[in-house]
Amino acid sequence: MGTQEEDPTSPSRALLSCIFLTCIALSAAFSATDQSVSRPLKKLEKPVVILISCDGFRFGYQFKTSSPNIHRLIADGTEAELGLIPVFPTLTFPNHYSIVTGLYPAYYGIVNNQFVYPKTGDAFTTSSHEPKWWLGEPLWETVVNNGLKAATYFWPGSEVKKGSWDCPRKFCMLYNESVPFEDRVDTVLSYIDLPSSEAPVFMTLYFEDPDHQGHQVGPDDPRITEAVARIDSSIGRLIDGLEKRGVFEDVTIIMVGDHGMRHVPILAIRPPPSYSPSDFVAKMNEGLESGRVENGKYLKFYLEEELPSRLYYVASDRIPPIIGLIEESFMVEKKKQQECGGAHGYDNALFSMRTIFIGHGPQFARGKKVPSFENVQIYNLVTSILKLKGAPNGSSAFP
Ligand SMILES: [Zn+2]
Repeated sequence: MGTQEEDPTSPSRALLSCIFLTCIALSAAFSATDQSVSRPLKKLEKPVVILISCDGFRFGYQFKTSSPNIHRLIADGTEAELGLIPVFPTLTFPNHYSIVTGLYPAYYGIVNNQFVYPKTGDAFTTSSHEPKWWLGEPLWETVVNNGLKAATYFWPGSEVKKGSWDCPRKFCMLYNESVPFEDRVDTVLSYIDLPSSEAPVFMTLYFEDPDHQGHQVGPDDPRITEAVARIDSSIGRLIDGLEKRGVFEDVTIIMVGDHGMRHVPILAIRPPPSYSPSDFVAKMNEGLESGRVENGKYLKFYLEEELPSRLYYVASDRIPPIIGLIEESFMVEKKKQQECGGAHGYDNALFSMRTIFIGHGPQFARGKKVPSFENVQIYNLVTSILKLKGAPNGSSAFP
């Protein structure tokens, strides 16, 4: 596996400009920040954004238990009233990287949590940190490009050294799931104490919960409730620390999840070269629709280029030619096995795949509700709050 920056797998420039135009045509119908309510900074010299991800925080989990700290952010901030819409496929790596690049997965190349690049046979896994896999410009790189400091306390892609981002030891934590949430919060707080010229203006903070529990027990188990309470207390620790430093009203907190949770990973098939993908799709769908396959009507195969255009899952040679879309609640098993947990990866239009969006800080109106929107809009939201020049991505509706 090479480490060259030049990536033979990248979509052509023509394709990239094509998606930018498509995104512009779709321009967002809402604005999460509101210039008319913008409040001046009291203590900090520069705007600061802490972007928090709670993995698999399905929309609605915030009502599972008393979560006073999350609800404080909601009450005093701006919330996507019916949740944040993930990108397809509704999986951890693609969604986290869409949040920080403003791009759909086909255009930065992380098209699945794991995949094989057919031209070379190289396998991408969640521990692949070679820059050749990771296209697009993440927020930490944008911040550094603008002459400022960024810090990442875990985020898919943050350990990849690309462009001006070299994953500095002090500000780029190497993924270790055993680090207690409290330590993560305390480290982020310690960055606030640095002299203004040294302090990061953008920080990520990642929590594995409640995705971890969701996979084990499904969305309705009491262990999810416990995980939500634990997230809430971590948010409380962050708020307390910011208040003690007198900067809670100055710092922007954006709290999101990457996807929801529902009782199946994406079904992607690359048939042997001797098989025609279109014949394969026709035969599979014929069989599924014949009535001879149990629950066959709940699965449909598509050629990649014939997938619904709203999924933006096309135009990357990293995407296998055949994709199966599965109806909610169903999953495809390789063999008979016990299954009582949860999964994600379904169509991103499903309500169960939605997650949360809460924005709290000087640029967010208090107590405001906005309609649901796709997470690719968050990149421009952050660059506008930080007043940075961002990379072009087409999601340009924010003021
Ligand atoms: Zn996830």
